[in-house]
Amino acid sequence: MYPTQAVIDRQALKDNLSFFRQQLGDTQPVPIVKSDAYGHGAAEATRAFAAAGARQCAVFRVDEALSLREAGVDIPLWVLLGALPHEADRAVGQRLTLAVWSLEQARALHDAALRHHTVQDIHLALDTGLGRLGFLPADLPRLLPQLAALPALRITGAFSHMACAGQPDHPTTRQQLRELDALLPLLPPGCTQVHAYATAAILEHYKPILPFARPGIGLYGLWPDGVQHPTHTLTPALTFKSAIVSLKRLPAGAAISYGSSVVLSRDSLVAIAPVGYASGLPRILSRQCQALVRGRRVSALGTICMDMTMFDLTDVPDAAIDDDIILIGRQGHEEITAWDLAHTAQTNAYEILCHIGMTQPRTYIN
Ligand SMILES: *Cc1c(COP(=O)(O)O)cnc(C)c1O
Repeated sequence: MYPTQAVIDRQALKDNLSFFRQQLGDTQPVPIVKSDAYGHGAAEATRAFAAAGARQCAVFRVDEALSLREAGVDIPLWVLLGALPHEADRAVGQRLTLAVWSLEQARALHDAALRHHTVQDIHLALDTGLGRLGFLPADLPRLLPQLAALPALRITGAFSHMACAGQPDHPTTRQQLRELDALLPLLPPGCTQVHAYATAAILEHYKPILPFARPGIGLYGLWPDGVQHPTHTLTPALTFKSAIVSLKRLPAGAAISYGSSVVLSRDSLVAIAPVGYASGLPRILSRQCQALVRGRRVSALGTICMDMTMFDLTDVPDAAIDDDIILIGRQGHEEITAWDLAHTAQTNAYEILCHIGMTQPRTYIN
């Protein structure tokens, strides 16, 4: 196997789901497996969550749901974007629950459901303050009769999404919770699958309590804001690793990488690993990238290249060809998390994981 890869621990996914089940009490978690399960592989992650008791999972796009069906995943799937009009015919009849956020979209879906002699389950997307997809709650009274006139659609749920979920005192949070509370009585009978809370909101235990919740990042073992919650433990499920393919001694004064971006200040042992920005290691980390080798923390040398990075192994004199180089993960007492990379790269762990997932082969353990 190529040495640069993501190693996914299925047991971590299951343990993290158990943690959220405890947090949620009677609320049912619907694991979010969009963007290839945040880089962990949607089919494998969905199977792991289903094995740990999830009764449905959610993706963003219809194509993601159909890929899961092709991979043999048969649990109900929720599609957060719903079907774009040109996808409506492909989306109906696949045991999907599709978000709906415009009347045009609803009508296209309805027509497709009629053509396929089926009734399509939908969830109304409601914008309570994120300013993203969704009907405005104030439009519900006008909207519901128009949707009720589309008999091939069945409104089984409604959902919203929080803008500042990690900040209970934020005015937007308070406003959104008030909006949610006020709109619940307006929902038609049968519209029972109501959900609004993702990882950060679940951890805040907001009210109103809703029957379903949509954890994502937490199931992959990371905190949504990058700050470890002191009393809870989550287990990162993804290890991002490469290996030493070449080791060499270079004298003080030797220059390393493009632009001769580093000049060695001492005689050094330099390792080369076939991992670079095309593998999901952001180039902006060049001066600050760290990794673990033989349980010790080492630094990258010079600019990260497209497919290679050099590391200073002078302080790990016993290092050898084929040694693992851990970019994200744990080795001995040391750990580097996706958030460590994200903070340095001025992004979030979500983006780091997605980029690794888009390019790297994966191995599954446990
Ligand atoms: C991505 C997403 C989630 C999951 O959010 P996390 O912060 O990863 O828990 C839930 N709901 C919607 C609508 C999303 O887009």
